[in-house]
Amino acid sequence: MTTRSGPVRHIAVLGGGTAGWLSAAYLSNIFGSKTTQQLRITLVESEDIGTVGVGEATIPSLRTTLRQIGADERDFLVACNCSFKLGIKFVDWHHPPGTVANNSFMNPFGILPFANDVEAASYWLKRRREGNLAPFKEDFTESFAVHPALCDAFKAPKGPNTPNYDRVAAYAYHMDAKLFGRFLRDMAMQRGVERIVDRMVEVEQDEEGYIERLKLESGQEIEADLYLDCSGFRSLLLDKTLGEPFHSFRESLLCDRAVAISKPWPAAPTKLPPYTQATAMKAGWTWSIPLYTRFAHGYVYSSNHTTPEEAERELRQFMGDEEGANPALHIKMRTGRHERLWVKNCIAMGLAGGFIEPLESTGIYIVEAGLRELSHYFPDRSCKPSLQERYNAHMARVYDSTRDFIVYHYCMTAREDTAFWRDNKYGLKRSEELERNLALWRHKVPTHLDFPPEVFSINHYTFLMAGHDSWPEGDWPKAQLIDDEAGLYAFEQIGKLRDKLLRELPDHYELLSALHAGQRFGTPTSAPAAALRKAS
Ligand SMILES: Cc1cc2nc3c(=O)[nH]c(=O)nc-3n(C[C@H](O)[C@H](O)[C@H](O)COP(=O)(O)OP(=O)(O)OC[C@H]3O[C@@H](n4cnc5c(N)ncnc54)[C@H](O)[C@@H]3O)c2cc1C
Repeated sequence: MTTRSGPVRHIAVLGGGTAGWLSAAYLSNIFGSKTTQQLRITLVESEDIGTVGVGEATIPSLRTTLRQIGADERDFLVACNCSFKLGIKFVDWHHPPGTVANNSFMNPFGILPFANDVEAASYWLKRRREGNLAPFKEDFTESFAVHPALCDAFKAPKGPNTPNYDRVAAYAYHMDAKLFGRFLRDMAMQRGVERIVDRMVEVEQDEEGYIERLKLESGQEIEADLYLDCSGFRSLLLDKTLGEPFHSFRESLLCDRAVAISKPWPAAPTKLPPYTQATAMKAGWTWSIPLYTRFAHGYVYSSNHTTPEEAERELRQFMGDEEGANPALHIKMRTGRHERLWVKNCIAMGLAGGFIEPLESTGIYIVEAGLRELSHYFPDRSCKPSLQERYNAHMARVYDSTRDFIVYHYCMTAREDTAFWRDNKYGLKRSEELERNLALWRHKVPTHLDFPPEVFSINHYTFLMAGHDSWPEGDWPKAQLIDDEAGLYAFEQIGKLRDKLLRELPDHYELLSALHAGQRFGTPTSAPAAALRKAS
C-alpha cells in the first residue's frame, strides 16, 4: 500500500482556462513556488482543446482575489480590456417586452442602510402602504442605492487617486476572458509555475484510487501530491477518473446552452455603460457586456424551447448584427455540481466541478471561493477526510445557495408569454430552503438572520424583490419601530452621497482611457475618498 504522508510539495493543475491559471496564480502566491522551494506547481493545458473563453462579468470578490495574488489593478484593467461594473440591469424580466412603460430594474452592488436597526426596505414599504412615500422615490432601489444614478450618468466607481482595489462606490469588472487567462498565466509563471502545453491522455491511480500520475500525449508523465482538475466541462479527473456523481440542476434551471457574439465598438464609445445588461428573451436571456474596445453579447437559452439557429438569429437581431458580420460561438452547458468537489487527492475547480448559468456572473467567484477554502483547509499528502468533508460541505453550500438565488430571479416573474416563461413560473423545482424563504418573505422583507452569511444575501434578494415589485403581504410589525426622523435620515444620507459622487466621480470611459494612456491609481488615500468609501 502506498504511504501517503508528509507535506504537499507538488501540485499538478490540469487545464489552462480561467480556473487553472487563477488557481496557479493564487496558490503560488500564497504558498510560494519553485523559486522559494516551498511548493512546486505544474500546469498542463492543451492548445487543441482550448478554453471556454467567455465569462466576462464578475462580482466584487474578484478585487480581493486580485489584491491577494499581488496584481496591480491598473495593469489588470489595461491588459484585460476591462471596464467597471456597478451591477446588473435586468430588462423585460417582469413583464413581456413592450407591455409596460418601465420594464427594467437594477441589482446594484450597494449595501442597504438600516434605520433604528431595522432594514430600510421595511420603512419604505410602510410609507408606500400609507400612501405617503415622498420624499422617497417610487423606485425602491433608486431611493436606497447610489448605483442606479451613477450608471445613468456613465460614472466610474472611483477616481484616479483612489488606491488600487479601493472603492468609492462598490464595483466589480467586465473583462476579456482570454486576456485574463494570459494575464494570470504571466503572473503565475513569473512566480515559477511550470507550464506544459500537451494533452493528457491517461491517468494512473494507486490501489486506493488516489491519482498517482498524469500521462501526456508526448510521453511525459507528471507525478504530484495534489491534483487540481480544471479541465472544464470534460471534468477528466473528478468525473471521468474518480467517477464522482453529478447532481444536475436541470429541473431548477432550464437553460443548457449559450451562443456568444462580440462586436467591436464602431467608434470610441464616449458613453460606456458601467453595468451588465441581462435582457429576458423568448427562451432565456442575453448578456450585454461593454468592454473597453468591444461589446460582448450572448444568449443563454433552453434547448427544449428553441434551437441553436433560432437563438443565434434572435441574438443577432437583438444586437444589430443581422448580416452576421461577427462570428458566433455555440456552447453546451452542463448545469449542476458534483456531489463532492474534493475526492482523495483531487479537487475540481471551475467548470470541472460544476456550473450555474451565468445570470449573476458567479463562475469565477465560485473558483475564488474554492481557492479560499482550499488555502484554509490545505492538506498534507494524506488529504485527511475531516478537511475534505468541511471543504465539500462549504462548497456544496456555495453552489446550492447560488443556484437558489438564480432560481429566485425566475420564480418572481409575471411573464407567461412563452412556453419558457410558463415553464419557469410553474414548473421549476425549488429547494426546501428557497421554499421556506419564499414563504417567510410573504410576511417580512429579507433580513440577515434568514440566511447563513454568503455572497447573495439580503441586499441582492431585496433589490430583486423590489425589481419584481413582489413585496410581503400585509404590514410587518417591526417596521413600526422606525420613527420618521430615523427613516428620513437614512434616505437623506444616501441622497447627499449620491449628489457628491455624481459631482466628483470621473466619467467611466475617460478614466479607462487615462489608465490606457499610463495613468496609475494613486497610493495616498485622500480623506474625502476615505469618508466616501465608508459611507457607500
Ligand atoms: C456561456 C457561459 C458564460 C459564462 N459567463 C460567465 C460570467 O459572466 N462570469 C463568470 O464569472 N463566469 C462565467 N462563466 C463561467 C466561466 O467561463 C468559467 O467559470 C471559467 O471560464 C472557468 O472555466 P474553466 O477554466 O473551468 O474551463 P475551460 O475554460 O473550459 O478550460 C479548460 C482547460 O482544460 C484544458 N484541457 C481539457 N482537456 C485537456 C486534456 N486532455 N489535456 C490537457 N488539457 C486539457 C483545456 O485546454 C483548457 O485549458 C460562463 C460560462 C459559460 C459556459
